[in-house]
Amino acid sequence: MRFSILGSGSSGNAALLVTEQARVLVDAGFSARRLGALLAPLGESLDRIDAVFLTHEHGDHAAGIEGLKKFPHIRVFANDPTARAVQSGLQHRPDWQIFQTGARFVFRDLEIESFAVPHDAQEPVGFRFTNGREGDLFSPRRSLAWLTDLGHAPQNVRECIRGCDVVVVESNHCPQMLQADSRRPWSTKQRISGRHGHLSNEGARELLAAVASPHWRHVYLTHLSRDCNSRAAVELALAEVRATLRACEFSVVEPGSGTPFYELG
Ligand SMILES: [Zn+2]
Ligand SMILES: [Zn+2]
Repeated sequence: MRFSILGSGSSGNAALLVTEQARVLVDAGFSARRLGALLAPLGESLDRIDAVFLTHEHGDHAAGIEGLKKFPHIRVFANDPTARAVQSGLQHRPDWQIFQTGARFVFRDLEIESFAVPHDAQEPVGFRFTNGREGDLFSPRRSLAWLTDLGHAPQNVRECIRGCDVVVVESNHCPQMLQADSRRPWSTKQRISGRHGHLSNEGARELLAAVASPHWRHVYLTHLSRDCNSRAAVELALAEVRATLRACEFSVVEPGSGTPFYELG
């Protein structure tokens, strides 16, 4: 299983996950044209994408679904409330594949588990993707957790990321930078930092420190606010956790940049 983040932040989120039998996007928060441009350097294109898995209906995660009408072969997996919210803004009807939040299901050689996260959307979820077989030399069992857009991390979320090999987690804002920001009204700041908003650097630190699993090979810090966060602030907040997880690689994904392919197994 190979994985690349195409982009992350409030102006758009999407990642590519490739297995032997499937090529899928996790969220599609860019226009179809932009998604195509982000896939091209990886040697991929929307023609070859089989499915999209949506976490929730916010534009920075689902804006690309409209443009996917030119690619009707792409199936769109979402829970019912998310699909309804996205469909209400569309001119066409994508090939919706509805799942129940919390249920496990299979798409080709990919096992998917969704779990509820606290965020101000209809029914937002995180995902755990698993591929491969236990003890298989060529295709070992590996899993990846995708966890963005959550105000806090309840116990179910902690359980889901513990046994994963790769964890993608939101590190949205530096609380001090958010409070000092003069462009955002008080109500917006309250929404962002609230229990159903976004995980701060401190929130990400607390979560990673509390779960800190020897399984983890790579942790990606994502969905950074352009104005109210910085690479330096994330790295400072996570310095202690990084020191305790020496075998784990950490990547801070800044807005406007993606990551090269990472091979999970
Ligand atoms: Zn959101
Ligand atoms: Zn978002």
